[in-house]
Amino acid sequence: MTQDLFRSDSYKRDARGMVRHITTEGGIVLDQTIFYPTGGGQPGDSGRLTWDEGAIEIATTIKGEGTDIVLVPAEPSALPPEGVAVKQELDWDRRHRHMRVHTALHLLSVVIPLPVTGGQIGAEKGRLDFNMPVALENKDEIEETLNKLIACDFPVTTESISEVELDANPGLVKTMSVQPPRGTGHIRLVRIGEGDNMADLQPCGGTHVAHTIEIGRVRLGKVENKGKQNRRVHLHLED
Ligand SMILES: [Zn+2]
Repeated sequence: MTQDLFRSDSYKRDARGMVRHITTEGGIVLDQTIFYPTGGGQPGDSGRLTWDEGAIEIATTIKGEGTDIVLVPAEPSALPPEGVAVKQELDWDRRHRHMRVHTALHLLSVVIPLPVTGGQIGAEKGRLDFNMPVALENKDEIEETLNKLIACDFPVTTESISEVELDANPGLVKTMSVQPPRGTGHIRLVRIGEGDNMADLQPCGGTHVAHTIEIGRVRLGKVENKGKQNRRVHLHLED
């Protein structure tokens, strides 16, 4: 198994680690990692590993067997040997943009309070698919409300509840297509805001900014029809 360091601290840009094993496809599995693996609509992290004898660029990160996290090298080159100590570094600019877009999408699901059927996160933009039988009429207003929420500078924090508690509160799950991962007995919740001043609370395993002001201004892009009930709403970072 790989211990994930990004869930307890999404701002960790570098860390030590040890090579546990190399997969048959040439992927690198560390004992612990700051690299987020592709999942929940968020792309896997890129970056680099360095060790005494070498260095390698990491193109992306994926989930492996069990709870393994697999770092995928950018191009064929000498892999670090099993057991070696490495330094891992993220392409922080790319990851931080993913965190900004990701957190903005949580708030998009607040200003458009409809069931979410899917989503995708990128470094410049993201999108959510909604179960939205009627077209969105007031896009400009929604964009303005969204930017006001961002400017409120809500704290973004995580906590954990038991699967039993989640089952008792099914309204917490907004994403119909992506149920939170189960099996450990606990579900990670992401809270935006605090106390009476709460904007959002939902299960999520991704990486988020710590304060909504970090998202910056966003712009709503086109709204596409995706089937009878589904509409895809695009969101862009302004800078
Ligand atoms: Zn999230």
